[in-house]
Amino acid sequence: MNMLPKPFIIPVFLPSAGCPHQCAFCNQRTITNIKEKNFPPEKIPPMIDEYLAYKGKHRDMVQIAFYGGNFLGLEKNYIESLLKETEKYVESGVINSIRFSTRPDTIKNAQLDIIDKFSVKTVEVGVQSMNDSVLALSQRGHTSFDTQKALTLLKERGYETGAQIMVGLPGDNEKSALLTSERIVELKPDFVRIYPTVVLADSLLARWYKNGTYSPLSLDDCVTLVKKIYLKFNKNSIPVIRMGLQAADYLKEEMSILAGPYHPSFGHMVFSEIFLDMAISALKTDFALQSSSLDSSKNRAAIKVHPSCISKVRGLKNKNIKIIKEKFQINNLKIIPDSTIKPDGLMVDLNQG
Ligand code: SF4
Repeated sequence: MNMLPKPFIIPVFLPSAGCPHQCAFCNQRTITNIKEKNFPPEKIPPMIDEYLAYKGKHRDMVQIAFYGGNFLGLEKNYIESLLKETEKYVESGVINSIRFSTRPDTIKNAQLDIIDKFSVKTVEVGVQSMNDSVLALSQRGHTSFDTQKALTLLKERGYETGAQIMVGLPGDNEKSALLTSERIVELKPDFVRIYPTVVLADSLLARWYKNGTYSPLSLDDCVTLVKKIYLKFNKNSIPVIRMGLQAADYLKEEMSILAGPYHPSFGHMVFSEIFLDMAISALKTDFALQSSSLDSSKNRAAIKVHPSCISKVRGLKNKNIKIIKEKFQINNLKIIPDSTIKPDGLMVDLNQG
């Protein structure tokens, strides 16, 4: 697993601010549960103070993050006033740097010149898909070429880059989602987030869902697809810093999500499936090697994993344990913590259990 050092993030949500239009899947006001459109820059200092009170000692790096809108699509003066207010904290050493998310079609030299004098380190690009018909059906209003240009330009200017992609958009399928991940691998962002498409109330997608022209992915299919995408990025040493929507308060309002593969432990489910695949493959190999004593050894087995991975190998509600026991007819299956095993591996022992 490729990991990035985790900064302590102070988030500022700017719902739909700077958006040229509404994407079909989006209702930022639902997502952030903030009704106020223009976040006043003078609210930044009290917000920083409030968040810093929760900063654990172990997180050295602190970033303020402007999320939820299209940062570089905001008015120049407003961008500058938000960044000026934040920059004071960078100068005093309280905050290390700034990050924001923005649309690919707003990443141009003129916009980047505005932020040049501030301590912006990280720019997250709302890629969503690298398939132009999926982008058009989702009413994104930009193309995959915009994303290619945006990530290239950000890299040229020395920014840390993130790519946010979505699966299950209108017109998307497994093939186009995997191709999107391949195109993104080629563009080498520093990290990726993968979001399942859910149907948010009051979005255009909600209308299409209600009239039967859009069906979301099932949770199981989505977990399997995101697993395949995760493995592609992992193989290419690109850290995936998030899979699934944030289990934050705004999503607890059941009415906000009408349908779709939302689960508060989505990322955990993806990792559990990866560990299940690894366990099945290792057990198959080991049982095949010990085929002469098959009947006796199949009654018991142990899977050794790094202590931090116990819940991943077990799966939600011990789902993986049940599958493995049934598949291999094992009566006694033990999961043993072993800190000598790497967090992305496991070892099977047929003599224990
Ligand atoms: S997805 Fe992003 S660009 Fe589209 S409407 Fe929502 S916030 Fe704006």
